[in-house]
Formats: sequence, structure tokens, C-alpha cells
Amino acid sequence: MAVIIENESKCPLCGDVINELKEYILTPPLISNELDELFRLSDSGIHLDCINKSNLKDKLFKYLKLYEQYSSKMRDLMLENNPKDVIGFNLLSSDVAEPISKYNYLIMLKKNILKWDDFEDFNFIANDFLNKSKWKGVTQFNHLKNLLESIVNN
Ligand SMILES: [Zn+2]
Repeated sequence: MAVIIENESKCPLCGDVINELKEYILTPPLISNELDELFRLSDSGIHLDCINKSNLKDKLFKYLKLYEQYSSKMRDLMLENNPKDVIGFNLLSSDVAEPISKYNYLIMLKKNILKWDDFEDFNFIANDFLNKSKWKGVTQFNHLKNLLESIVNN
């Protein structure tokens, strides 16, 4: 969950500081792509009031729930396997019109990549997404590029 500093961290929706005077929720790092609509609500403290008034409300709660399920599945698989062999796709796009969104939250064991039927499809879609500069990371690290490399070079 996000780490916030009361009276310093700001709500991404209204720009006011977060503190005990107004109820707020903390969100986990949902997506590291700056260009995704959910990015600004990711990893932050947000006033409950502001979310309730936002048109992103349903979307945010949908992905918070999916993130929760994904995280617990990842935890279980990492306990049962060598964590290095578990590949988690995490959230790739919160825009369901993006073809890449069908691979959101997919989890796969490394040994199964070669028999993965959608390997070529994912490879194509992910490269296309990257080539169209639809993924922009805050840092040099690009989750999608990294994911693609770990799958292709397996
Ligand atoms: Zn707010």
C-alpha cells in the first residue's frame, strides 16, 4: 500500500493534502504506466469523498479487487515454487479496448511458456503497444518491456 505523509501527501483528485480531517483510502501500486488512466490513482492516498464523486470510481474499485486476487495468487504460487519461476503480468492496461488488456493479471510458470498457445499473440500485441509508445514508465524501468523480454528469452 501507498506510504503517505499526513498533511504533505496530496489527493490526486482534488490536490488537497491528506490528513485525518477527511476520510481517505490508500491504494497499492496498480500500474506503473504513466499513460494509463489509473496511474494517478495508483499508490496514493485518496479522499473517499473525491473517489465517490469521480467518474473513475467504478474502474478503480474493479482493479483494486482484481489486484487483491492477483496478489494473493502470486503469493501462493511463490510459496509453492521458486519465486523466480513465477511470471506475473500484473495490470497491463485498464482500458478494456486495448487488446493487451486481455493479458491483465495473467500468471504463468516459466516452464509453461513454451507451450503457451497465446505466446505469439501476446508477443505481437505487447510489441505493438511498446512501438506505439503507449507505455511510459516513471523511471527507466519499463514493466511491459521487462515482461516481454523475460518471456521471449526464456
Ligand atoms: Zn481529494
